Amino acid sequence: MTENKVDVVIIGAGQAGLAVAYFLKRANINFVLLDQQQNAGGAWQHTWDSLNLFSPATYSSLPGWVFPKTSGPYPTKSEVVNYLRAYEQRYEFPVQRPVKVERVEQTASGLRVISDTALWEAKAVVSCTGNWSTPYIPNYQGLPEYTGRQVHSAHYSNPDEFIDKKVLIVGGGNSGAQILAEVSKVATTTWVTQREPTFLSDDVDGRILFDIATQKYQAKQEGRVLEAPPSLGDIVMIDTVKEARSRNVLKSRRPFIKFDKSGVFWNTEDYESFDAAIWCTGFRPTLDHLQSLNVIEENGTIQVNETRSVLEPRLWLVGYGEWTGFGSATLIGVQRYARSTANEISQALNA
Ligand code: FAD
Repeated sequence: MTENKVDVVIIGAGQAGLAVAYFLKRANINFVLLDQQQNAGGAWQHTWDSLNLFSPATYSSLPGWVFPKTSGPYPTKSEVVNYLRAYEQRYEFPVQRPVKVERVEQTASGLRVISDTALWEAKAVVSCTGNWSTPYIPNYQGLPEYTGRQVHSAHYSNPDEFIDKKVLIVGGGNSGAQILAEVSKVATTTWVTQREPTFLSDDVDGRILFDIATQKYQAKQEGRVLEAPPSLGDIVMIDTVKEARSRNVLKSRRPFIKFDKSGVFWNTEDYESFDAAIWCTGFRPTLDHLQSLNVIEENGTIQVNETRSVLEPRLWLVGYGEWTGFGSATLIGVQRYARSTANEISQALNA
């Protein structure tokens, strides 16, 4: 197995890993970026065909390079992937792919990053592995026996296979609303949400989510708490969701109690068969590679001070969403955490 020595290993070269790489390169810190995928673009390579960003290009830039002009008001999935690929080349980051990091271990002098092909002795590690690799499906009674088609939003591409079918769409966030909007045009759909979905007003888009994240960030910096801001999970009224509302499709019902092989029980008597279930029930952070550091909490996250692990101070976590910083799982929102992480690493290396 090839042995390498490097100051910093960034695990994951999606938007978060690239943003950290930008600031480490600017600080002349010696690092390597490892990513398990053959191609650049992170999770964006796998989102569904019609997915657009819900914020305009000007609100979707990584540090140093404004998102190029797009075909429409909001960047398409392929425009995002092309931007991330071009960004990686533009700054000539030292990326090695495909390299799957299997585990990270403590050593006397730092951290050892072990992959399927080589190992790296590092002074610091930044985990930027995102959530996409860990889709979450709730554990319902009878679900293992259900023989209908099941797909999580992480692996949903388009509505073609659901034409003329009866389909459950489970989940009340942006994924659920956007997938419901397109599947309901070709199939009979039932939308299932834990609680009444909340929709942002028509005159705002994803920018407001970034502005809220900024207000929350500033409030936290000043030791204040923001009074009841809209949640980052509120549904952005993009055109396809507005069109679904005009067809009166955005009505949801509370969850079923269990499955059987062909459908669901809404309660003890009321049964309904379904051909398919599309799970828009979110993700969990992809952290298995950090198991051996004994830093993962019961709830699947890691105790951090900003982005630095409290229990293993040579480890930083960037881009996982709220618990690693408000808006950190967005292209523009990840910047401030990537910058602060690079600054902390620079101080730690020069201490
Ligand atoms: P990822 O993009 O998942 O990249 C992580 C990388 O790490 C991947 O390449 C993965 O292969 C790699 N990796 C994982 N484990 C390992 C390992 N063990 N070893 C090596 N490599 C590994 N964001 C916005 O900014 N604007 C939007 O409008 C927006 N809309 C969205 C709409 C939906 C419906 C969804 C689901 C998400 C949306 N997002 C949006 C969020 C955005 O898509 C993700 O948050 C983003 O992809 C996260 O980037 P990341 O770099 O943290 O993770």
